Amino acid sequence: RTFTKQDVLEKAAEHNVKFIRLQFTNIFGTLKNIAITVEELERALDGQISFDSSVIEGIVGRYESDILLNPDPSTFVIFPWRPREGAVARLICDLLHPDGTPFGGCSRSVIKRTIAAAESKGLHLQVGAEIEFFLFQTDEKGKPTVITHDQAGYCDLTPVDMGENARRDMVLTLQEMGFDVSSSHHEIAPGQHEIFLKEDDALAIADSIATFKFVVRTIAQRHGLHATFMPKPVSGVNGSGLHLQMSLWQDEKNVFYAAKEPDGLSITAKRFIAGLVEHAGALTAIANPLVNSYKRISSNDLAPVLAGWSENNRSAMIRVPSWRGNGTRVILRSPDPTGNPYTVIAAALQAGLDGIKRKLTAPKPLAKDIPAWEIKEVIREMGLPRNLEGALRAFKTDVVIKQALGESIFQRYLEAKENEWERFQSQVHQWELDEYLQNF
Ligand code: GLN
Ligand code: MG
Ligand code: MG
Repeated sequence: RTFTKQDVLEKAAEHNVKFIRLQFTNIFGTLKNIAITVEELERALDGQISFDSSVIEGIVGRYESDILLNPDPSTFVIFPWRPREGAVARLICDLLHPDGTPFGGCSRSVIKRTIAAAESKGLHLQVGAEIEFFLFQTDEKGKPTVITHDQAGYCDLTPVDMGENARRDMVLTLQEMGFDVSSSHHEIAPGQHEIFLKEDDALAIADSIATFKFVVRTIAQRHGLHATFMPKPVSGVNGSGLHLQMSLWQDEKNVFYAAKEPDGLSITAKRFIAGLVEHAGALTAIANPLVNSYKRISSNDLAPVLAGWSENNRSAMIRVPSWRGNGTRVILRSPDPTGNPYTVIAAALQAGLDGIKRKLTAPKPLAKDIPAWEIKEVIREMGLPRNLEGALRAFKTDVVIKQALGESIFQRYLEAKENEWERFQSQVHQWELDEYLQNF
């Protein structure tokens, strides 16, 4: 990860790169890019390519200001599915004002700031990502349907079907692009898959997740399929999550582990967990950004519903698996893959750090099984927000998360998401017609 501008120029020449896509992620987690030809590469590397800010904030026409793209040379990757002659490469960019100061809407800068805050205390976050998605068939017009092409389940080895081929192709492509893919498997629902990206530092994994979704969709398309990260595309079966496996390090030592504690978890780990629980509401607003996200996290189809932690209860937002020593980790299970990976990881890290700073006490771990007669009561007590409106209510008053995101992203996000909720609420849905039209 110590690529210089010169390295990029040399690599581009050596591999016959013709086009370079300058990539960045907008506030809402959508990957965007501007393509340049190789002749412009040197100018781009000097941060001389500009565009207008509306693409970042999702507001067109209100006002426009010029934003400069500042490419990170260490993110230079050649797309393996493009031709070798006239190859296409990408660079991930930070966003700057023309005077060189960071642009408020740059989510990559948000995570860099949070990482720097942790590093100033000698702490380094490592994150692995389990990313779930569905593969669906498309209709004659190429429009995605919710029809799956397989009936397989958890870790099934189906007779070689299109899904398995597509998934293998995705993994191979990701590896060719330098991704460290730990494993992949068929998930629980028909047509559902998971790919696990091995632990990396927080910025690198956020970059990877951003690119991952684009790669998976691209490869699916080449197999005539539509890949979707929509959290709950089919009711009654599992939705898709993005589980973040987090560990905190100091001087090559995993500080979540403490041999002398009966459960092997350090006080730092407990405080980190306590911080995540403390900020659960606001975190949910960032990590579960769509109206549809809440169809997943309140359904109990193996998705979390509780702002608590456990070793093995999958209804909890946090799970601490049994590995200890340097393998000790805290898995945040509530996020879904539609969030902006930079702000989601930044907010989670900030929440955990806040728990450490304020020496917060973690709640008791949840039991493996919560009896059915108790579950309603437990949800009432410590349930995650059950819809976007509820999450935004918590988000609005969370000063720690607000500070982590910065005023500009915080305000714009809140405004856009409140608007999204209002648009949803103003519609009459099919369920209401089915349920009420005849009886009332
Ligand atoms: N799909 C579940 C979720 O939404 C996770 C289930 C699993 O990984 N086994 O989080
Ligand atoms: Mg998994
Ligand atoms: Mg899974």
